[in-house]
This record gives sequence, structure tokens and C-alpha cells, in this order.
Amino acid sequence: MSVVTTPAVLLRSFNYSETSRVLRLYTLDLGLVGVMAKGIRKGGGQGRNGLETFSQGDLTLYVRPTRDLQTFKEFSLRESGRGLGRDVLRFAAASVLAELVLVHAGSEPSPLVFQRLTTGLSRIGQAERDEVLAVLMNEGWMLVAALGYQPQLDPCVECGNALLDSDLGRFDFAAGGVRCPNCAVDIAGPLIGPGARAQLGALIEGPTDLPITKPKAHLQLLHDFTVYHVSESKALQSFRFLASVARLDVDTEAEGPAEGLASAGTEKSGQEES
Ligand SMILES: [Zn+2]
Repeated sequence: MSVVTTPAVLLRSFNYSETSRVLRLYTLDLGLVGVMAKGIRKGGGQGRNGLETFSQGDLTLYVRPTRDLQTFKEFSLRESGRGLGRDVLRFAAASVLAELVLVHAGSEPSPLVFQRLTTGLSRIGQAERDEVLAVLMNEGWMLVAALGYQPQLDPCVECGNALLDSDLGRFDFAAGGVRCPNCAVDIAGPLIGPGARAQLGALIEGPTDLPITKPKAHLQLLHDFTVYHVSESKALQSFRFLASVARLDVDTEAEGPAEGLASAGTEKSGQEES
């Protein structure tokens, strides 16, 4: 057994007994870990403050590689998750990033995933309320890419030809990207116009403060893509929660075609022309 200290973010926790909690954290050095924090519910012990969901800091734990659940030693808080917990919309958006990591990341550490997750949570915490969804789309797609599932927007995933500026493509979830109009005839994925492709490309590429024109369609696309690729068809509770909090009528059962982002593209090119 060894003692390890690593940067960590608390993603979820639940009571285990009268006195203990089980914590699920994503760490820089150990990837996703579960720790048993004995006696923590008696309150107040040193190094045990600041353990709100989404808090970031340095976790010290006793590690025995053969065990599923490690043993908590202490947590030194760097950035409290309390701000995210105070506002339900920010909390719901942060829960989406957390769930993506919880369902997908394993014990293999990924500095890139750690950086995206922690930066994403901080940005959601600092965003104005009407920017929260746009920040989540930006951070959500970058996190999906960091997990290894960047969607291919151009060229066409089927024939390999470049999409033209005016092309209305369709999203092919199985192939992980967009089909050109010629290859989109027999598939049921959501339509995606040129403006929406450009928007999505910008959201995936890096941090941006680009506003999104169709939050419902964007959330639906991120949901459908991640259910297909990242969660292996398991329903993601956090999307349902966020959709209800943000009053967006997103179908979180969906396997079929969604409304699509076709008209987001139309709106965008309309704005560019004016
Ligand atoms: Zn094609």
C-alpha cells in the first residue's frame, strides 16, 4: 500500500453508513478513483472540509492497486464547488461534464481529460447565467474530443469528399461524423447545415465565447452523439436534468432523428449576408 497525493476533482459522493461516505473523483495521476472516507460524516475533521461536489484540490489517499475502493486520507481545497452548487443551471451543466467522465474515463490517467474537466467546471462556474449553455456546448465537445471521440465534420465520413459551403449534410452517429448530401440519402441522422457545421467546428476546436443560436438542437446533438459513442447507449441522467432545468424539450430517450441543426445554419448565413 502506498500514499499518493494528486490533483483531483470530486464528481459524486454518497453516504455509505452512519459515519462514512464513498467519493468518486477524477484525478490527474490515477484517473477515475473511488475512495472510502471513513468517519467523514461526523464532521469537521482536518483535511475534510471543502468536499462539496465539483470541488478541486489535492487528494491524498492510501492506494492498494488490487482494491476497487481506495482509502481517503485528506483533501486540500483549491477551488470550491460551492458556487456551482448554489445555482441549479450551473450545477446541471457541470453534472453533464462530470457524467461524461464518470461513464467513460477509466483508471488510465489522461492529463488532457483532467485539464478539460477542471477548466470546463471553472468556466461554467464563472459564466453569466445566459452563457452557461454555450460554455457547456464548448466544453462538452472539447471533453468528448479529449475522451477520443472527436466528430468528423468535413470531409464526408462516407465518400471522403469535401463538403461544399452550401451543403446540407446529415449526422451519421455510427460513423462518427457528417455525410455529404449525396451520401445522406438513406440515413436518419439530424440535418446539419453549413452554418451549424462551422459553429460546431468552432465549439470543438478550442475555447470560444461564440453564442449558440439553437441551444435545444445543440444539446440534443451532444446528447445523441455521446449516448452513441461515449456512454455505450446508457442513458445519461445529467442531460435529462439539464434539459428540465433549462426548459429545453430535449428527447433524452432518443435514438431516432432529432430536429437537427439545419436551420441554425440558415440563420447564421442569413446574419452573415445582412
Ligand atoms: Zn459523401
